[in-house]
Amino acid sequence: MMTQTDTLAPAIAERSFDPISKVGDEQAFRQEIRDWLAAVLPADWRQQWQKVREADLKGVMNWWLNERRKVGLATPHWPKEWGGPGLPFSYQIIVYEEFARGDAPELETFTISLFHTPATLFEHGTQDQKDRYLGGITHGTDVWCQGFSEPGAGSDLASLRTSAVRDGDDYVVNGQKIWSSASMHADYCLLLARTDPNGKRKHDGISYFIMDMKSPGVTVRPIRQITGESEFAEVFMDDVRIPAKNLIGAEGNGWNIAQSTLSTERGLLIFSATERIARAFELDGIEAKNTWMRDVGLRREYAGFYAEMQAVRLMVKRLLAELEANPDKASATLPTFIKLNWGPLLQRYGEFLVRAEGIEAQKWEPAIPGTGHSSRMRFNDFLKSYGWTIAGGSNEIMRNIVSERILNLPRG
Ligand SMILES: Cc1cc2nc3c(=O)[nH]c(=O)nc-3n(C[C@H](O)[C@H](O)[C@H](O)COP(=O)(O)OP(=O)(O)OC[C@H]3O[C@@H](n4cnc5c(N)ncnc54)[C@H](O)[C@@H]3O)c2cc1C
Repeated sequence: MMTQTDTLAPAIAERSFDPISKVGDEQAFRQEIRDWLAAVLPADWRQQWQKVREADLKGVMNWWLNERRKVGLATPHWPKEWGGPGLPFSYQIIVYEEFARGDAPELETFTISLFHTPATLFEHGTQDQKDRYLGGITHGTDVWCQGFSEPGAGSDLASLRTSAVRDGDDYVVNGQKIWSSASMHADYCLLLARTDPNGKRKHDGISYFIMDMKSPGVTVRPIRQITGESEFAEVFMDDVRIPAKNLIGAEGNGWNIAQSTLSTERGLLIFSATERIARAFELDGIEAKNTWMRDVGLRREYAGFYAEMQAVRLMVKRLLAELEANPDKASATLPTFIKLNWGPLLQRYGEFLVRAEGIEAQKWEPAIPGTGHSSRMRFNDFLKSYGWTIAGGSNEIMRNIVSERILNLPRG
């Protein structure tokens, strides 16, 4: 078994790389990232990471974050002020395109840290909170998780019952969270809790906290998934004391702040996922020498999926173009349609590959961390694709949004 200490000797780079110095010339910037990835990423990183034990996951993810940091790309979408490279949006897009094209590992353990936490703190954090917490992310020391969902509050998140009661300089928190991704590795949690049970609307009495996961009273219990992995966990809080200075924004304003946290899922994060899977589509079919490609029926099915994939990709690109032009005026409906198309497409395509490739594709293998939904291990990807129609709001809820807010149909 691979451990953290014998992690991935990186390929020896023959020269140093400095993509940031190429800003101003998109082609040169793209080429520099391409050359750097080819030089630094071991060709067999997937095989190596497949042997990584769960306890060592943070170590290998950190190795890759550190390689990215050496060329200024640890946090490509962050402003300079907070340790990012301050890239124009079009260059951020190139970075994530090239990460996908070059098959760089996805920093899954750091997803909340790299995307959701800054989206929250940049807009709503105090100076003190930004100074204290953002550096730990850029340096890879801190993993963050998101404690929103509860057993009785997923789709109906505003019904959450975890309570936070003010007691002197602290809040005392009691309750349970569930499906909290990477929480078993986390140092901090973005926590929603109810500070006022008597609010006019259920959205009103919710507050937003930074919870130190090492606080007494926090218990994390990983959930074993159908793929054999544990990507998320239950988090139990028994009389956990959170200092009042860890409140983000005003007490009772947690629901509004949570919208900033979730907005990150509608930009570069979904773009990165679609680009990676689009690349996997090409490798699966066009560039592979699969025997099933000789079957006209299967080839036709593949072509249909490929076209659907391109349509989703175009929708995501249109959304990014709108975000680039004016984030405040970007379509509110496009993310809903992307989500409605994307999840079911991956489920149908995953089923197709398992069917087309026959018995070989039906065996279980240990998952490969850092490969997201495009491990290209057929059975794992097929099973995992079902999370897409649940995470970030289930597709049934998306359909409710379409019917009520877009088509103005009566509420059920
Ligand atoms: C891969 C993955 C990662 C996740 N990571 C996190 C995380 O890091 N942090 C976090 O807080 N949460 C996380 N979640 C949880 C996710 O946000 C919830 O699973 C999701 O919001 C759905 O909630 P639920 O599971 O409680 O389902 P429920 O809300 O109980 O829904 C169960 C079923 O009923 C349907 N349903 C519910 N209400 C309605 C309605 N009004 N109309 C029609 N149908 C309805 C749903 O569509 C669903 O099919 C993650 C989930 C997944 C799959």
